[in-house]
Amino acid sequence: MGEFELISRYFHAPFANFPGAERRIETGIGDDCAVLAPLSGRLVISTDTCVSGVHFPVDASAEMVAARSLGSSVSDLAAMGAEPVGFTLALTLPIINEDWLQGFGSRLFESALAWKIPLIGGDTTKGPLAVTLTVFGRVQDHCLYRHGASPGEDVWVSGALGDAAAALSLLGRPHASLTPLERQLYQRYESPQPRIKLGRELQGIATAAIDISDGLVADLSHICSASNCGALIEEDEIPLSSALLAAFSKEDALGFALQGGDDYELCFTAPQSARELIQSLSADVALSRIGSLRRESGVALRRHGEEVKLAPRGGYDHFKENSVS
Ligand code: ADP
Ligand code: MG
Repeated sequence: MGEFELISRYFHAPFANFPGAERRIETGIGDDCAVLAPLSGRLVISTDTCVSGVHFPVDASAEMVAARSLGSSVSDLAAMGAEPVGFTLALTLPIINEDWLQGFGSRLFESALAWKIPLIGGDTTKGPLAVTLTVFGRVQDHCLYRHGASPGEDVWVSGALGDAAAALSLLGRPHASLTPLERQLYQRYESPQPRIKLGRELQGIATAAIDISDGLVADLSHICSASNCGALIEEDEIPLSSALLAAFSKEDALGFALQGGDDYELCFTAPQSARELIQSLSADVALSRIGSLRRESGVALRRHGEEVKLAPRGGYDHFKENSVS
């Protein structure tokens, strides 16, 4: 199979399946460039590369590579408050394995349809397996930047934290040996759900936002340094799923939530006056207020009434070992 046949067989999907795409995308796959009609608002763009053995295990399924690479890329759009517009795919393959391509392509389109983001172009090359996605989005009014937060504001997170990192710690085990609870955690790692609706609803409400790819402490630290402030978070307010608490000790669960990445939930800040409004948002995910911002730099955790300074990631065991007291 040649490059062109491969593209038309696995990566060509009609835009009719994507609402609004026919109007917006004048030319997709098949010409020298994709052509988009001018958008109102702002165009936001993000590129990420996932390399086999670095960003996903060498034996990862094609479906997982597709779901994780598109999920993490679209999550960047969500974190800016953007509506997905389209994406390109630069795929480097060691060999043409039709089973792999079938699994990758069908999962990619399943996710693309769910997140309403059509594939508009790409490149196909031979080499060690790597996937580079560039996602394009539109923000009508205000982008959610990492800067913009102020001392006194609340810190919020969506969903539950730590599940994906906990699943990562199970990765060496054969899938068949995982308990149903562990499989639930694995699902969170395998197919991240970008919080697109929440990001869009937070426009004009949140003062800063980021998606949690590297862990709560690391990503909240980015908001703090960009906004020139620090944060104090409450141990008891950190949302942990019942699956995580059932499969791991509370201490391990907190370690995963604070220092483990890959959840792709949103962390955002907002003034105290926005509390009711935020609780009334119709986004399809729970929201937790976990602490507040202050002038003193760095991220600290209040546990058992005492403050512990947390360093972003230090190859965690338990978050205690990472703390600088
Ligand atoms: P060129 O040599 O002009 O860059 P290519 O042969 O690389 O053209 O690609 C031909 C068409 O197929 C282009 O429209 C390109 O965007 C698209 N394409 C190539 N590879 C992929 C891919 N992996 N996924 C989606 N579209 C692709
Ligand atoms: Mg090309």
